[in-house]
Amino acid sequence: MLNSIVTQPAAPVPASDFVRDLVRQDMQRGTYGGRVQTRFPPEPNGFLHIGHAKAITLDFSIAAEFGGTCNLRFDDTNPDTEEIHFVEGITEDVEWLGFRPAGVFHASDYFGQLYEWAEHLVMRGLAYVDDQDGDAISAQRGGFGKPGIESPFRDRGPEENLDLFRRMRAGEFADGSRVLRARIDMNHENMQLRDPIMYRIRRGHHFRTGDEWCIYPTYDWAHGQSDAFEGVTHSFCTLEFDSHRPLYDWFLEHLPLPSDQPRQTEFARLELTHTVMSKRLLAALVADGVVDGWDDPRLPTLRGLRRRGYPASAIREFCSFIGVSRTNSRHEIELLESFVRTELNRTALRRMAVLHPLRLVLTNWPVDADRRPVVEWFELGNNPENADDGVRVVPFAGELFIEEEDFAEVPPPKFFRLAPGREVRLRGAYLVRCTDVLKDESGRVLEVRATYDPETKGGSAPDGRKVKSTMHWVSAAHAVDARVALYDRLYTAAVPGEATGDPADDLNPASRELLTGCKVEGALAETPPGAVVQFERLGYFAHDPRDPLLFHRTVGLRDEWAAIQKRHR
Ligand code: ATP
Ligand code: MG
Repeated sequence: MLNSIVTQPAAPVPASDFVRDLVRQDMQRGTYGGRVQTRFPPEPNGFLHIGHAKAITLDFSIAAEFGGTCNLRFDDTNPDTEEIHFVEGITEDVEWLGFRPAGVFHASDYFGQLYEWAEHLVMRGLAYVDDQDGDAISAQRGGFGKPGIESPFRDRGPEENLDLFRRMRAGEFADGSRVLRARIDMNHENMQLRDPIMYRIRRGHHFRTGDEWCIYPTYDWAHGQSDAFEGVTHSFCTLEFDSHRPLYDWFLEHLPLPSDQPRQTEFARLELTHTVMSKRLLAALVADGVVDGWDDPRLPTLRGLRRRGYPASAIREFCSFIGVSRTNSRHEIELLESFVRTELNRTALRRMAVLHPLRLVLTNWPVDADRRPVVEWFELGNNPENADDGVRVVPFAGELFIEEEDFAEVPPPKFFRLAPGREVRLRGAYLVRCTDVLKDESGRVLEVRATYDPETKGGSAPDGRKVKSTMHWVSAAHAVDARVALYDRLYTAAVPGEATGDPADDLNPASRELLTGCKVEGALAETPPGAVVQFERLGYFAHDPRDPLLFHRTVGLRDEWAAIQKRHR
């Protein structure tokens, strides 16, 4: 089914797509009395990922665009895997993404009504209790071009079925010993209609209904009916439910609906290169300790991306940009990153940080009357993209840290940064010229020495002489120690698992590099938790929400998406 990689951008924000066309048509025809109601229906068995963001954006935007409402509805029909803390986390993530549900519901709110509707079908001969176990039932399903086998219990009368179904509910039978099935057609070409299961016996403790129920509805039995109870008009889901639509319709057509019959429409799932998007695989990464929990900044979970520094607005814009269609495709992760970079370029405050510090000593720097180095304070702009962000003052003195890779004792060709005899600009401060280096016994450079030109305050020379390089720095006496996490792709392969069938084979063993002893300007220690700043020349970095001296690299500065497009042109 998958997967071409989309390398060309779709048209900018689609004014129209097949989903919107359909809703518009319904509005024009007065279907549903001109009402639009959608829902986002996550199963609380994990946290949300960016694929869900695509569904959320669609569900909520359609409602907003057509003057309707969108609910959040937890599809909590499986007590074994669902947990209250996933409900709380999902609610929080939807709000963080910037959407406010009109109402918050649970499929479990409807367990009573669902049960009554099941009895309704039983009494009409449209559902029956099957005494076979799951294995026997699936062995009888048949396949494509191969008819199914009718259960020996299929022709039980309604009275007997009703009695058995009530006893199932009352807890008289063992887990898995019986099921309730819809009585449709064991020869139907669509497997979903071959007497699908509606209820299973399962003594699981449900996080909301406790031990009240020992039978639980299947997805197919719960979903469309929950839509109908709530008054949903347009029920959007991903393409793998395409073959379930006739069943969705069949149930609704045979029930006494309180309002108009909702309709299911399918769209393509979001897939991204170099990552996985299924809760099952994400949960395994967490459980196996490959990552440090659901909010690990390498994961495509909304909480991971948030911790990584991705703005919610960038995720929303990305989702609108890629639009919806009925063709499965995989988008390049660089496209998402370019939305993040564009947003952060507008909003992130500029700061200086040195990731691999090398000491730079200015040998002619003045000392005061107490023979202590003079400290000068420079005013530096917070964001060249936005004058309203103002300025900050940054201390400068005779001992600084510069980036190790900004110095070369023997400069290779095209290296224009600091080297013996060469002059460079320290951003916003002075021009400095390297005189010599101090090394340890092994020949490692311990310290670079230079002289500064007092005439070049602010970074330009009165005689107009040019330097080829401007470098960032921090004052050694004022720097704050920090740790910085650099991230690479979680999977080296664009399509994890493509070669071997197992995504784990493509895990990138070097997806995180944790740097300690980084030197950052003092203002950074005061950055609010979670805020994202630009470390000049290095990229965008998010302040960890819990650890005040940890920064996560959100994205680099280089627009890799532009480079990819150029390659494809
Ligand atoms: P997963 O396979 O990751 O567990 P799921 O579909 O089981 O996902 P749900 O919690 O049932 O997860 O999904 C809630 C809604 O989000 C559904 O309507 C589903 O179709 C949609 N959704 C899930 N994954 C994606 C995706 N990758 N792209 C777009 N929509 C998605
Ligand atoms: Mg699901």
